Amino acid sequence: MKSWTRREFGRSTGAMVLAGLGPRLAASESKARVVVVGGGIGGATAAKYLAASARTIEITLVEPNPNYTTCFFSNLYLAGLCSLESLTHGYKTLAQRYGINVIHDSVAAVDPVAKTVGLKSGPKLPYDRVVVAPGIAFNYGALAGYDEAATQVIPHAWNAGLQTQLLRRQLESMEDGGVFVLVAPPNPFRCPPAPYERASLVAYYFKQHKPRSRILILDAKDSFNAQDLFLDAWERHYRGMIEWLPAQFTGGIKAIDVKERSVKTASETFKAAVANVIPPQMAGQFAQQNGLVDQSGWCPIDPITFESKLQPGIHVVGDASSAGDMPKSAFVANSQAKACAFAIAAALTGSERKSPHLFNTCYTFLSPDDAVSNAISFKPAAGTIKIVDNFVSQVQESAETRHRAAREAQSWYTAFTRDTFGYAAF
Ligand SMILES: Cc1cc2nc3c(=O)[nH]c(=O)nc-3n(C[C@H](O)[C@H](O)[C@H](O)COP(=O)(O)OP(=O)(O)OC[C@H]3O[C@@H](n4cnc5c(N)ncnc54)[C@H](O)[C@@H]3O)c2cc1C
Repeated sequence: MKSWTRREFGRSTGAMVLAGLGPRLAASESKARVVVVGGGIGGATAAKYLAASARTIEITLVEPNPNYTTCFFSNLYLAGLCSLESLTHGYKTLAQRYGINVIHDSVAAVDPVAKTVGLKSGPKLPYDRVVVAPGIAFNYGALAGYDEAATQVIPHAWNAGLQTQLLRRQLESMEDGGVFVLVAPPNPFRCPPAPYERASLVAYYFKQHKPRSRILILDAKDSFNAQDLFLDAWERHYRGMIEWLPAQFTGGIKAIDVKERSVKTASETFKAAVANVIPPQMAGQFAQQNGLVDQSGWCPIDPITFESKLQPGIHVVGDASSAGDMPKSAFVANSQAKACAFAIAAALTGSERKSPHLFNTCYTFLSPDDAVSNAISFKPAAGTIKIVDNFVSQVQESAETRHRAAREAQSWYTAFTRDTFGYAAF
C-alpha cells in the first residue's frame, strides 16, 4: 500500500469531496470506513490493530508529520545517552504491511451529520467511525508570560523533536555552575513521572560535564508520582544538586519572564541559566474544536469502547481522553487504542464484543543504570475505569534489580514501538 504525501493526495483526488479516494477506496466503496486522526501512539496503534482485526474495514490514518519522535526516552536524549534519530519512526510499515491509507495532512474538522472528516488541504473523507488521538495541547493562558512564542526561548520539550533539541542545545551551552529551573505542571498532565525523570537525567549530564551546576524544580503541586523513589535516588546519585520546591513552599507559580529567563512565584523570583517550563495541559486542539471536550478540558469516553460521550460514532484514545484512573502515558494510549480497535471492529463487522483488558507499564530512569517500574491493570467499572492491581518498585531494591529494570526498559522500547508502528521503517 501507498503512503500518500499531501501533494500526491491532492493530485489524485482533485480538491473534491471524496466519492473516490484514489483507486483503492473507489474499488471498495462497500467497505466500512474508519478514519484515524493523529498518527501518534494512540492513533498508530488503533489503525494497526483495526487493520489486523478486520480486513473488511478501510482504514485511513491522517497525520501531518512524515515521522514521529517518541517523548518516551527523550529524557535520555537530553542526557546525551541516545540520538533523536533512534527515537524517530516512520509510517511505511503501517502503509505497506497493514494496508492502511496514510495521508500526511491535518484534519481540520469532523462533520458528524454528513459523517465526513475534512482535511486542511480541502478534501473530505467519509466515515463510519472516527478514532481521534490528537494528544495534548498546552493551556498557555493559565501561565502569565508564557505562550507559544515563548517556547522558542524557554522550551517545554513536552512534545519530542525540535523542542527537545532546543533544550539540549541550551544545556550544552550553559556554563558550569548555572541553575537549570524546571517548572512542573499541575495534574493531570502527560506522563506523571516524566518531569522528575528529566531532572534526574539532566543531573546525570551535569555530573559528567558541569558538576557545579544545580537543578531547581518549581512545582505547581505539593507532591508527585513516585516521590519517595526520586528523593532517594537524588540523595544517592546527585547529592546537593537537585532541589524540589512544592507549591506550598513557593505559594505557586505566578508568571514567567521570558526576557529575564526567570520564574516568579508568590514568594520569590528565581533566575535561570536554562529554564524548562512545562505548562498546564488539556486535550489536543482538534478535540477542543470539535465538541469532544467537557469542562475538565479532556474528552469523556465510554470506558469499554472509548466512544465519545459527547459525539456518537467518534472514539477518543490516548492522552486526550478522560479515562478514570488511567494515567496519560504511551503504554496507556496503546492499550486504549487496542480496546477501541476491537470494539469498532466488532461494531462494524457484527462480531462478538469483549470487555477490554487495560494496562500501563512504565519504566523511569533515575540514572542510566538505575531504573524503576510501575505496572498497573485496570478494568471498566461503574461508568469509568478503575485500578485492579498495581506493582511499584520499592526504595530498598538492590542495585542489580535496578540495573535489570534499566535493561528491560531498553527492550521494552524496541518491542513497544514495533507494536505501535510495525517494524521501524522510513
Ligand atoms: C518527557 C516525556 C517522557 C515520557 N515517557 C514516557 C514513558 O516512559 N512511558 C510512557 O508510556 N509514556 C511516556 N510519555 C508519555 C507519552 O509520550 C504520551 O502519553 C503519548 O505520546 C500519548 O499518545 P497520544 O497518541 O495520545 O498522543 P501523541 O503521541 O502526542 O500523538 C498525537 C498525534 O496527533 C497528531 N495530530 C494532532 N492534531 C492533529 C490533527 N488535527 N490532524 C491530524 N493529526 C493530528 C500529532 O501530530 C501527533 O502525531 C512521556 C512523555 C514525555 C513528555
